[in-house]
Amino acid sequence: MSAYQPSERTRVRRKPSRGGYDVELVHSILDEALTCHVGFVADGQPYVIPTIHARLGEVLYLHGSPSNRMLGALAEGTPCCVTATLTDGLVLARSATQHSLNYRSAIVFGTAREVSGEEQKRLALRTVVEHMVPGRADVVRGPDERELDGVAVVAVAIEEASAKVRSGPAIDKTVDVDPERWAGVLPLALTAGSPMPDESVAEGLPAPEQVRNWRRG
Ligand SMILES: Cc1cc2nc3c(=O)[nH]c(=O)nc-3n(C[C@H](O)[C@H](O)[C@H](O)COP(=O)(O)OP(=O)(O)OC[C@H]3O[C@@H](n4cnc5c(N)ncnc54)[C@H](O)[C@@H]3O)c2cc1C
Repeated sequence: MSAYQPSERTRVRRKPSRGGYDVELVHSILDEALTCHVGFVADGQPYVIPTIHARLGEVLYLHGSPSNRMLGALAEGTPCCVTATLTDGLVLARSATQHSLNYRSAIVFGTAREVSGEEQKRLALRTVVEHMVPGRADVVRGPDERELDGVAVVAVAIEEASAKVRSGPAIDKTVDVDPERWAGVLPLALTAGSPMPDESVAEGLPAPEQVRNWRRG
């Protein structure tokens, strides 16, 4: 499958030229975003909860405390909507109404299942660590049985998905275009600072290569 099939839920209505259903595009946004927002309804109340996600194929793993409301609701089969957003720039026009953001976002609809098998849980938690820092799962201690029992994991199967991307300059009305008034884009990027070692780390021990060289995406 190279593209998700647009449906009544996922068809991008406003500025459809910015919408896309390409699987690689949706995956790339989900993979680059460090966090997502999960929307679901519990007892008639809509919630939108920020959380960490990690994708493996057509599945998004979410994890947390076994008493977590969101994970509990999702494990019971409550449908959910997962959104990931990357903010790429401030679009600064000459008129107030033409100001915008450059962004890439993905919206996924799916239904979750609880991940309870030991091997599946290990795989999910490994995927979460790899999502944060590729290569790190191989150098950290994996969870023991008690730790596995102490964490709830759900797998959201991607049923439908769409992406929306805005890029490029401000779109000023012709009457506002004036070479003597500045307009343009201020690119934004998430960059890593210098690694700060834990105080228990031996002096002079360098951070692992995958931490030193971490880049968003
Ligand atoms: C970037 C980021 C990543 C996170 N990653 C994870 C994760 O991987 N796993 C995980 O379990 N949790 C994660 N959290 C925390 C998560 O957002 C919730 O706080 C957590 O799921 C709370 O669950 P609960 O069942 O105790 O709260 P709920 O019963 O769901 O929440 C009760 C009420 O508390 C308030 N509340 C709860 N969370 C927040 C919040 N984040 N900000 C403001 N108000 C809030 C709301 O009013 C909510 O209605 C993350 C948060 C952030 C911001």
